[in-house]
Amino acid sequence: MTKKETKAKELKEKLFMERKNSGLIMSDAEMKAADKFNEGYKNYLDCGKTEREAVKAAVEIAKKAGFTEFKIGKKYKAGDKVYSNNRGKAVIFAVFGKEDIEKGVNILAAHIDSPRLDLKQNPLYEEKELAFFKTHYYGGIKKYQWTTVPMALHGVISKKDGSVIDVVIGEDDKDPVFVVTDLLIHLAQEQMKLNASEVVKGEQLNVLIGSRPFKDDEGSELVKLNIMNILFEKYGIVEEDFLSAELEVVPAFKAKDIGFDRSMVGAYGQDDRVCAYTALMATADIKGVPSKTVVTVLTDKEETGSDGSTGLCSSYLEYFIYDIAESFGKNGRHVLSASKCLSADVNAGFDPNFPEPFEKMNCAYVGKGTCLTKFTGSRGKSGTNDASAEFVGYVRKIFDDNKVIWQTAELGKVDFGGGGTVAKYIANLDVDTIDLGVPVLSMHAPFEITAKNDVYMTYKAFAAFIK
Ligand code: MN
Ligand code: MN
Repeated sequence: MTKKETKAKELKEKLFMERKNSGLIMSDAEMKAADKFNEGYKNYLDCGKTEREAVKAAVEIAKKAGFTEFKIGKKYKAGDKVYSNNRGKAVIFAVFGKEDIEKGVNILAAHIDSPRLDLKQNPLYEEKELAFFKTHYYGGIKKYQWTTVPMALHGVISKKDGSVIDVVIGEDDKDPVFVVTDLLIHLAQEQMKLNASEVVKGEQLNVLIGSRPFKDDEGSELVKLNIMNILFEKYGIVEEDFLSAELEVVPAFKAKDIGFDRSMVGAYGQDDRVCAYTALMATADIKGVPSKTVVTVLTDKEETGSDGSTGLCSSYLEYFIYDIAESFGKNGRHVLSASKCLSADVNAGFDPNFPEPFEKMNCAYVGKGTCLTKFTGSRGKSGTNDASAEFVGYVRKIFDDNKVIWQTAELGKVDFGGGGTVAKYIANLDVDTIDLGVPVLSMHAPFEITAKNDVYMTYKAFAAFIK
């Protein structure tokens, strides 16, 4: 090597930024820890395929870590751990810190709702002796991806007597599953000419649920009758009970390792339960008393715009902060204004099979660590929280000091689309907020992919932020 080259190399090392693959930086021991962490993560995914189940599973984990239900007006002390369940569909966890709560709390926020097919309120019908459920898709989906995939039915049926029936069918190996059909290729000449958004239309997302008629009788709709009779025997419900039900059709398969090297996780609903689980575990694993109070919220309704009583456009997070402030005799507004938040949501991982919409200098790479996203939105940064340079600097130092492997990205090329997260709703409460999360391949598809190292680094990032 000539002297000149050595100097350039030296300078490059000093001046240029390089983001290496986490597999080159992490020790074998840490990679092992990452693999172990992901076993828990896969189990959480399997136990929590709906927002309700994700809340239940999270509360169970938290209870084991010493969390108790928050009581308004009760006095708490540093180190106490509480949770507040919002209608069974969203939940907030808090660990009280040493510092005066008016100096602000550290918030982690992730969402636990995922794209799926919801049953309509009048779902059941029969056509040509096949029985179906009509659905209305929830969140943004490529509708054609949701056909010919084994599906399970999860949710609740609320009866007039006030009782609520939990439904889970399709998860046990012995359970039947359900499916949305698609047209055979042999007769799809006309369908194949359609725009991809119309190949399968919303009203074609009907779930096949039966084909045998009710026996020993005559009349119409005997297949439907047979299904209704099975449901009556199993759950004691009549057709009218669907009116007050929330039944969600979700992929029936379980979380799996992907690749010969088992380096990735493939599963339904990783957006955004990957950030929910990592945030939850960072909170549950807090050792001793954190300096600032930690508030971790797992919210519902992100995929439909965060509206509604269980979404972050509602005031439930704000109210909770006011309530905990009050129990220390402090002002909730002052707490919020001094608070900081990692809004935890996934970003798109660069896909070499579809490179076109990604800008290679500013996109997330699978395996290169957790991803900090300064702003989201679309077009001219429309509809985004855009974290301040100072707050990015603050977070950056924490990550580097704690050996978190991280990268930064925005969602795709300028003017190629876009997306949003709950970041702006928390930022709108006068809280310094930035997005952080795991790069995902095939986001919003029935089977999404993440890298185990990135999942683990996201956990590490949260742990460092709330320490
Ligand atoms: Mn998301
Ligand atoms: Mn999403």
